[in-house]
Formats: sequence, structure tokens, C-alpha cells
Amino acid sequence: MSERHPSTTTLTEYFEPSLYNRQELTFFLDHLGESPVAASFKGLPKHVTKAAVDDVLGRIYTFEEIKRVHHVAWSGIDDVKESILRYLAWMETCARARAQGGPQHLSTYAWDENGRGVKGGEGADGGTVLTAILPGNKRVRLGIRIGTPASTIDMGAGADFIPDFVTPVAVPTALVEDKTKGLIVCPVCDWTANYTPNRRPTYTAARGRMAKHLKQATNKQANHRRLYNSVFTSGRTAPIPVIRERTA
Ligand SMILES: [Zn+2]
Repeated sequence: MSERHPSTTTLTEYFEPSLYNRQELTFFLDHLGESPVAASFKGLPKHVTKAAVDDVLGRIYTFEEIKRVHHVAWSGIDDVKESILRYLAWMETCARARAQGGPQHLSTYAWDENGRGVKGGEGADGGTVLTAILPGNKRVRLGIRIGTPASTIDMGAGADFIPDFVTPVAVPTALVEDKTKGLIVCPVCDWTANYTPNRRPTYTAARGRMAKHLKQATNKQANHRRLYNSVFTSGRTAPIPVIRERTA
């Protein structure tokens, strides 16, 4: 009974929908959040393996339990559901293409602007379907990283503690501004807010958008929040913080 699913040895941190067959994915959608035992209580449908159920529903159930008992957030059932639906939709797109003479899996080919596909070309998936291709030839990952952020300890914006073994990187404490072009740039990610030079209301509005960006950015969150604190909270009534001119 110690049947192992490939993902339990190589991809434990990920939920990769292409590792499962259609019946398994449909079964997951119907039972997300249930323990494997409860989900398979009435037996498993044809083509749904115990290994897949233990792997996926088992991991999700564990994360849900840890969330319930210890209030630790994880990527969540909705993300898994979305990943499955995204994958199934992509499989339908591939099936339609196949019916018109296309290859088995569109994303295992790189496509040029003439509609010519090269199997295993640059950016194409290898043996496993990992991406869908969006209009504009952009690729989107089908799978998601699954797991609890509890393994990451973020000391939070403004915290000073950095362990000895970490080489600190400079954390920006001021916005970058180009007064000639009317740009305020986030030094963490280069997100830019535009304003009309010498028109104060547009400048104020741009700073408002920047404040929102710093509070809501989902990448490099700690540095974005830290920058927000240093620019927008401590000196709210003070003059506009020192702005360093962009050198690039
Ligand atoms: Zn940013």
C-alpha cells in the first residue's frame, strides 16, 4: 500500500496539476479540504488513485488543520482550485488545437510570430506541461507553490534584527524622483507614478498612488512596507522626505 506519487518525492512544495489525470482533478475539486480518509470513504472513482488523493488532499488537509489549530495561513484552497481550473481550461484549448491538426501539447513548443512551433524551443515546457500560453505569447504557470508561510519569519517592517549569517542588503528609505520628467519611482521594484511637473495636485496624487503601492505590493513586502513607514508615516507633517535624484 506504500504507493508513492511522483510529487511526494520531487515537488512537495508545489501543486502541479499536470501530474494528475482529469478524473483525479475533478475529484480534488469536489473534495478540497477533506481528509483523504473522508474523501475516499465511499470508495474512489475509476482512474482516481489513492496515491494522488493522499498526496494532494492529504497535504491540503494538513495545511487546513494547521491553519485551524494554529492560525497559520497558507496559500489556500482557492488557489489550488484556481490552478486546477486554469489547467483544465488549458487542456481544452490544447484539445481544440489538436482537432485542427495541432500538436499534443501546445506549451511543449516555442511559438514564433509566424505560428511556427519548435518542440522544446526556448521557453517551452519540457516533458511536463507546466505553463499555458496567453494571447501575446506570454506564458503563465499552471501550478502553484503550496505551503505555509510559517516557514518564513519576516521580522516585519521596521525591525532591526538581522542574523549574523545574513549579508544585509541596502533597504531603500526614500523614493526616487525625476522632477523634470514628473516621475516618482519605487526603488524596491521600479514601479512608477507619473505627474505633471510643477503641478502640485498631480504630484500629491502621484504620491498617494505610491503610498498605496508600497502598502499593497505583494513582492518584496517587507522592504515595501519598510519604505512606506519611512516615507509616509514618520514624517507626515514634516516636509517631503529627502528625495534622491535618479542617476540612471
Ligand atoms: Zn515597488
